[in-house]
Amino acid sequence: MICVSIGRGRHRHVIAEHKYLAEHGIRLVELRLDYIEGPVQVARLLRERHCPIIATCRRAVDGGRWSQSEEARQLVLRTAIVEGADYIDLEDDIAQSIPRYGRTKRIISHHDFHKTPADLEAIHARLAAMDADIVKIATMANHPTDNLRMMELVRSSRIPTVGLCMGDIGMPTRVLVGSCGAPFTFATFHEDRVLAPGQIGWRQMRDLYRYDSISTATRIYGVVADPVAHSLSPVVHNAALEAAGIDAVYLPFRVPAEQLDEFLERGANWPLSGLSVTIPHKEAVLKHAVRQDDLVTSIGAANTLAFEPSGVAAFNTDATAAVESLKHALYYRDADGGGVGETGEPDEGLGLKTAIVLGAGGAARAVAFGLKQQGVDVTVASRTFERSKRIATEVGCKAVEWNARYRVSHDCVVNATPIGMHPHVDETPYEKEHLRRYMIVFDTVYNPENTLLVKEARAVGCQIVTGVDMFVRQAAIQFRIWQGVDASDHVMRDALKRATSSARSPD
Ligand code: NAP
Repeated sequence: MICVSIGRGRHRHVIAEHKYLAEHGIRLVELRLDYIEGPVQVARLLRERHCPIIATCRRAVDGGRWSQSEEARQLVLRTAIVEGADYIDLEDDIAQSIPRYGRTKRIISHHDFHKTPADLEAIHARLAAMDADIVKIATMANHPTDNLRMMELVRSSRIPTVGLCMGDIGMPTRVLVGSCGAPFTFATFHEDRVLAPGQIGWRQMRDLYRYDSISTATRIYGVVADPVAHSLSPVVHNAALEAAGIDAVYLPFRVPAEQLDEFLERGANWPLSGLSVTIPHKEAVLKHAVRQDDLVTSIGAANTLAFEPSGVAAFNTDATAAVESLKHALYYRDADGGGVGETGEPDEGLGLKTAIVLGAGGAARAVAFGLKQQGVDVTVASRTFERSKRIATEVGCKAVEWNARYRVSHDCVVNATPIGMHPHVDETPYEKEHLRRYMIVFDTVYNPENTLLVKEARAVGCQIVTGVDMFVRQAAIQFRIWQGVDASDHVMRDALKRATSSARSPD
């Protein structure tokens, strides 16, 4: 069950949100009484309740907003019990001074905003002994392993326990805790108004991660990166998994570089089935692979891992996705839609002769490699010339200074820099006076899809390949590796477009 925390300053806003949630199928809400401005009208909030509630009133030290005296806070909590709150949240240091009364169930809670302590089990045992109906422990995750310890605590507990890790690193416990036996997890009313670090909105919890359908049989996939919060891979993969009716969930795993080895070594403890890999881990993951595909060997980086019985297998789907996207633009220019899983593309090369790749990071390297493999004469131009020279040596292509990019002959331009990406949407890496109608313009930026470069190239009449094409194709190839079946192209594409447009909407 998803419990939605409501933290609003005015009673009428609390009541309105509560009503809205109940009407949308939410069966438990947490009223954060510490957010109310002025005197708290506990009786009014309980009288107008639309589904069961947890009454919580947090001090600043526990991450709350209560600014009056501790005596006044405990009076609010006692009043909530007398008024018949369904659950009362009592922190461990006050739990014994507020006795059980009526039908109100007691949640005995403990928070640690700095760490996940070594003595989690001892803390749990202490809370459980305080006449608890439910134990709640929320601790900061500083290491992915903290999630594993927390989930094991919930699994092994005999008393119902909500054990959550906070922060980006701890986010996976919020989604997986129900499958470990927790009675509920917490989510916020709106994802932009989080009440604790790492919280997500209830719609994300319900619709994106499908919290209520996750069980011990659900396979776990995810993207490993640092940072990871803005990755759109969960949006695309979860939509495709749901559409295919596959019992699996795809999560964001923030893993700092120095913690990657332990995270992967303990993959079986989650247990992980597959990972997308992105900055800064694409090269570092390789030492964990017992086998890798030829592209990984050639490019020296992987963006996909599959956890197989024999060990970890590494793949690179970026170069293939870039080439497939170009092929589609060249051979299916009049066709409708993307058609990720289609067959029948000509086996011969791309038919392109020359290309300039702008940028010299991971994306540029994969695209340059893919194009080179197709017999294209590739030149890399980047701001830091040393980086393009390195790619040129690895891939066997040419490198030029950034300012020389227009002087190299090319019939295809690939933007593999972040220029044009939201919020810098009025920038382009390639001035429009240099665009020619015969060119193919491939912008790997996918947020927004219609970058300034794409718009200007379209106006000139160039053929366009967008970052959305490439992103969806690389995700679709990952899906095929993991699931052995094709993902729905339009489901992935629609999910990505919805996510990028809602991320830009002002509300
Ligand atoms: P990266 O490794 O950080 O490389 C970024 C490259 O862009 C570097 O060469 C960097 O130059 C250059 N650059 C950054 N800002 C610049 C500027 N203002 N002017 C000129 N050059 C600039 O990143 P990456 O992983 O390769 O990703 C690059 C972009 O590709 C991303 O932003 C994303 O939009 C896109 N991408 C798309 C997909 C897809 O599936 N559609 C997949 C991966 C990436 P310096 O070395 O001088 O910093």
